Amino acid sequence: MSSGRVIIVGGGFAGLSAAYTLMKRGITPLLLEAGDRVGGRGKGETVDGFSLDMGAFVFTSTYDTAFRLCEELGLTLVPSQMKFGHYRNGRWVTTTPDQSLWNFVRHVRTAITMGFLSPSGMRAASRVMRQMYREEPYLSFASDSRLAELDDEETYGEYLERLSVPESLRMTLGGPLKMILGDPELAGQALMRAYIGETMLSSGRVFMPERGIGSLSAALAARCSDATRVSTPVTRVVVEGGAATGVVVDGETIEADAVICAVPGTKVSGLIPELPEATRRALGAVSYSTGCRVVIGLDHSPLPSGWHGALFPEDGDTPLLLDRSVFLPACAPPGKSLLDLLIGRDRARELIPLADEEIKRELLGAARRKAPPGSALPEDDEGLFYRVYRWEEALCMGTPGMLAALANVPGQLAGHIESLFLAGDYMGIPSVNGALSSGERAANHAADLLASRAN
Ligand SMILES: Cc1cc2nc3c(=O)[nH]c(=O)nc-3n(C[C@H](O)[C@H](O)[C@H](O)COP(=O)(O)OP(=O)(O)OC[C@H]3O[C@@H](n4cnc5c(N)ncnc54)[C@H](O)[C@@H]3O)c2cc1C
Repeated sequence: MSSGRVIIVGGGFAGLSAAYTLMKRGITPLLLEAGDRVGGRGKGETVDGFSLDMGAFVFTSTYDTAFRLCEELGLTLVPSQMKFGHYRNGRWVTTTPDQSLWNFVRHVRTAITMGFLSPSGMRAASRVMRQMYREEPYLSFASDSRLAELDDEETYGEYLERLSVPESLRMTLGGPLKMILGDPELAGQALMRAYIGETMLSSGRVFMPERGIGSLSAALAARCSDATRVSTPVTRVVVEGGAATGVVVDGETIEADAVICAVPGTKVSGLIPELPEATRRALGAVSYSTGCRVVIGLDHSPLPSGWHGALFPEDGDTPLLLDRSVFLPACAPPGKSLLDLLIGRDRARELIPLADEEIKRELLGAARRKAPPGSALPEDDEGLFYRVYRWEEALCMGTPGMLAALANVPGQLAGHIESLFLAGDYMGIPSVNGALSSGERAANHAADLLASRAN
């Protein structure tokens, strides 16, 4: 037990895991959240017995901190597998892993369509895969991942060029990321390769809390409710005499012995003008994709039997389609389904200002025009309910060299502003797991500092 007050700014996964970790160490922090509820980009909501995720929706197989927290909080983790159909070169191919002869034939077709079976595709694919297996220990989203060591000034596009990856295979290795993130070829090669590695090295296997990621943020929020104040935006972190000594809310200073700043990376410099120049530069590399999402409750399955999702990597207007109830059956009442339409890129930016009804019409219309054979996508006036979620800042993109530059930030701060700790997805491998583990790390450092002062 150490005495002293720790203030946490921001109640997304990073802030919540920091608060939860401090409470486990006997310290009740004060968590200040600008919005009217905590959870940030990991929020969920329940509508008519359906469990919806508003932002993040999938864990991969290496989310170690997320898995541990689910276990501690009593959330059941269920294994699942991504079974996507891909619309490529004007036709559908599927990667559904069933054992039939027909599926084997379909896989050959899939491999041809995706560019793996041309001579140049085979050569490039074997180079990419060999390198991926060699670097497997680095290419993960786990909390101890050494991915930052692979990060350099090379973009993902330059990496694919260097390995002579032909155009059709470039689409396979970048298309799904493009649908959600924007142009992956401009992002850093290390983070983009980690995304590909997660899918290829573990055959699309994932583990999720049975009621989705929102159930984890809700469980953390419940544990931290005594420490939380919502609708309380912090306007500044106070730094005096080389230490963080409080935060400003509504023009009033709340004093603290340590401050954990757990807001998105783009907002940190504005809150803390005293940051060292090198830290400001590193933070300047952080950028986020934009995302827009429509979730529709249905009384029938929208996608062909056995499919979890449908991808349109060549197309700028059609959203990623997911049937969440195939992926996580407990998220929908028996016999019902949850169709998720998710779009990133410039199209998300165009849609965000529109009214909910219009966004739903646009995305459903685009999806219906290229619906997979055997699917039953709803008409505009069908569906039990729908929700629209807009995210100006969605997934952390990772400019080349960003991970490497941010890995130096804790050392830079230690020398300049004692008792200030940064947490957030951008301080780990950007993801829910990165946010959770960065919050845990910041909380442990803050608690150690208070303990060392008490001695
Ligand atoms: C549509 C979408 C899909 C995604 N899909 C996935 C996925 O499938 N898997 C995955 O791993 N990740 C996914 N992500 C990313 C993931 O959600 C984030 O990486 C993670 O949730 C970030 O957590 P965080 O705590 O760092 O930040 P946030 O969740 O952004 O939390 C920051 C909090 O700080 C608060 N805040 C900001 N400024 C202030 C202030 N001045 N004072 C007080 N509070 C403030 C905000 O209101 C917010 O609650 C997705 C994100 C989106 C939006």
